[in-house]
Amino acid sequence: MASPLLQARLDRMRVAALQSLGRSAIPQWIIDNTRHPNDPTKPWSFLHHEYQIGILETDAEYISVIKAAQTGMSELSVRLMLALASLYRSSRFMYVLPSSGFSRKFVVDRVDPVIESSPQLSRELSKEVNNSEIKRIANSFIYFAGAQKTGQAISVPAKGLVMDEVDFCSQSVLTSFYSRLQHNMPGESIVTRFSTPTVPGYGISQLHEAGSQGVYMVWHEKCGQWVVVDPLQDIILPGWQEDTLENFTKADLDDPTLRLEAAFVQCPHCHKPISQSNLSDPKKRAWVHHYPDKVEKSFYVSPLDVAAINTPEKILRNVRNYNRHIDWINFGLGKAFQDAENSVVKQAVEKSATAITVYPGKSGVQGGLIGSDVGKTSHLLVGVRDGKYMDIIWAERIRQDGSGNLVSTWKERMDEYGAWKMVVDAGPDISSPQQLIEESVYGRAWACYFTRGSSRRLSDLDIKEEEQIIGAYRTSIIDKVVKQLNGGLIRLPKGHPELPTIIKHFTQMKRVSRLSDTTGETTAHWASLSKENHYFFALVYLMIADDLATGQGAVVALPDTGAIRKVQVGGAIQDRQNDFWSRPLG
Ligand SMILES: [Zn+2]
Repeated sequence: MASPLLQARLDRMRVAALQSLGRSAIPQWIIDNTRHPNDPTKPWSFLHHEYQIGILETDAEYISVIKAAQTGMSELSVRLMLALASLYRSSRFMYVLPSSGFSRKFVVDRVDPVIESSPQLSRELSKEVNNSEIKRIANSFIYFAGAQKTGQAISVPAKGLVMDEVDFCSQSVLTSFYSRLQHNMPGESIVTRFSTPTVPGYGISQLHEAGSQGVYMVWHEKCGQWVVVDPLQDIILPGWQEDTLENFTKADLDDPTLRLEAAFVQCPHCHKPISQSNLSDPKKRAWVHHYPDKVEKSFYVSPLDVAAINTPEKILRNVRNYNRHIDWINFGLGKAFQDAENSVVKQAVEKSATAITVYPGKSGVQGGLIGSDVGKTSHLLVGVRDGKYMDIIWAERIRQDGSGNLVSTWKERMDEYGAWKMVVDAGPDISSPQQLIEESVYGRAWACYFTRGSSRRLSDLDIKEEEQIIGAYRTSIIDKVVKQLNGGLIRLPKGHPELPTIIKHFTQMKRVSRLSDTTGETTAHWASLSKENHYFFALVYLMIADDLATGQGAVVALPDTGAIRKVQVGGAIQDRQNDFWSRPLG
């Protein structure tokens, strides 16, 4: 046993030697300095997880990895973080998780055991700076943080970031973590993002598309071709009638006509089975990137990349572990998935562009419903109900100016389309909505703000009649609007010049999960792929206007008794139009 001083010198020499190798030293560092997760008496081994070496060695500033469950990825991300802190001396790194509660638990369950079972890391770990938020290893620091609320992005410069489960983080908080890298010279940052995918084009899937799109190809020994195998397309289940396993569910596990034990991976080139030993032989596997010239490197890790452990049968049987079918596709197979519940389906929206455009002016329309968002440029939609359909008959962008163009245009459109109800965005500036409410017939114009909170509520709308302000439960209102859009019940104005923009804005919305720090549960949340979503929110306000007009909890005050009498607004509203009274100004 070497003396502590000699040991410290040996450690330094070894690190110096490894450092000269750059990131290609990381796999060896992990073998030398960390232990087997299930048996700490053994060293770490990449056996059956050889795919990990290619990811660790990649020397790119930005890396993203789509991960499936059962691929050993969470063991890897911790070790990567520790290797970076140990190899890049005097640096700061941040490990970012969806919430601070999750982060604290992760440190205790996942990080501390790796350090404790490693003689070198135990020696290098500072006794003073060692808690669930910060650790000093040699003279580097690792910060552990949640990305849930603004203000959680620790405000110190960092050399690198490891972001874990980015699809469950607040994307705007993640952005503030990236700004911690701006002190680095170009090319000097080290950023690795890992996540289970959720919706195509969102989070890790968006990062993957922006990157090189690496896949762990297989050399099929039967046909002598390098092929890509996909768990949804290429696992063949004898007895299954469909082209892909997209619709395979828990219930199918009990179907006696399906022979799960005979499931196999089919070569997409020669259509013959690829044997288990072929799939799990690292000499017959290799990372190949679709876009090798892209600066950002991205990887998709499939359960079939750990073929020695994940047999086709086991992958299929795992469906039992997930309550929602989509979770099996996201977590079990590592595939992003879009359906009519988590996205506005572009094809469905395009197909419903069958309403007639009615230009403002002498439109002759009565009973219009109007929704408008508010911004430097505001976006307005006019709809009319036609049985089960909502026909959008007009769309426009309104620029605010110094002489109150926004409110005057709103009022003109209310007149021109005989508007029963108009709902506008209460934020960011309440003064225009307030002016509209004050200058409109009482009960017609409303301002709406969104609330988050529990879904266990009787109504999606919290109506404050006196102020004509509505609080709308955001997730559940948007769920309903998306359902109607995907179901073809909202018809868009055919040939309207704004139609392409409307469709673009509608298709930005994705239903994703957020991790709650207080309950530890995930909650659904509609996120937007970009800020270009204004017409979508104009539609949400319009549909709230429709709710008010058709009397789902809407009330109006009638003037005839002097006191305010609450009357449910229903189908008879047209007969009562003259009963509305104009609130006196001032
Ligand atoms: Zn083949």
